Amino acid sequence: MRTPLIVGNWKMHKTVDEAVQYVKDLCSLVKDINDVNVVIAPTFIALHETAKATRNNKVKIAAQDLYWEVEGAFTGEVSGAMIQGSGAQYVIIGHSERRAMFAETDTHIRKKVAAALTHSLTPIVCIGETLDQRESGKTFDILDHQIAINLAEIKTDQLGQIVIAYEPVWAIGTGKNATPMQAAEAHKHIRSRLASTFGKEVAAQCHIIYGGSVKPKNIQELIAQSDVDGALVGGASLEVQAFFEIISRSRKATV
Ligand code: PEP
Repeated sequence: MRTPLIVGNWKMHKTVDEAVQYVKDLCSLVKDINDVNVVIAPTFIALHETAKATRNNKVKIAAQDLYWEVEGAFTGEVSGAMIQGSGAQYVIIGHSERRAMFAETDTHIRKKVAAALTHSLTPIVCIGETLDQRESGKTFDILDHQIAINLAEIKTDQLGQIVIAYEPVWAIGTGKNATPMQAAEAHKHIRSRLASTFGKEVAAQCHIIYGGSVKPKNIQELIAQSDVDGALVGGASLEVQAFFEIISRSRKATV
């Protein structure tokens, strides 16, 4: 059984002090929840302090990106080795904002996924189609293409260590989430694609989480779908009580 995984992506929000206060509050809110795994992705500068504040706790920390080289003349970049040293355990890779605004390509993402695994970080690999691609019936082709390139360096025994986030671009930050049926169909397709590339057994271990306008009011119907193993939450993760509501409602048994 795959334990639900709920990840809060703060994007470019919160100072270090605000981030630390939030994760402390979250740790005490989730202290009795043992059947959902919880991850927060603050900005790079808050990684170390939030990892320290959550040490030995159930809330884990993710970076929002990484660079594939270990060190060198790469102004503004942060390596997997540095993220690992901060105490973070996860890293979001290939978010659609990075693809669209920072010219990140599938090949860059492939290198980042490999670097994350080298440094014992769990990559949360974001894939998903634009509205144009969906409306022209290309959703599954796009997902297949992204999986093929983004995971090209993954070995079969590493698939269980990665998380795939299905994030339809048209649903991110728009308030328009995928319907439970659209999410179910895409997640099922992703898992069967992983099964044909890596084998059924490892594909069954891989977490496939949904992202795109997840809120307390829609999480239950999304997570009720059998291949939806959790959520990547942007806007609704910024306020601790709303995020806690999402976590509480993600317990499969309560759906
Ligand atoms: C995201 O940033 O990955 C995201 C899904 O954002 P939102 O929940 O705000 O749509």
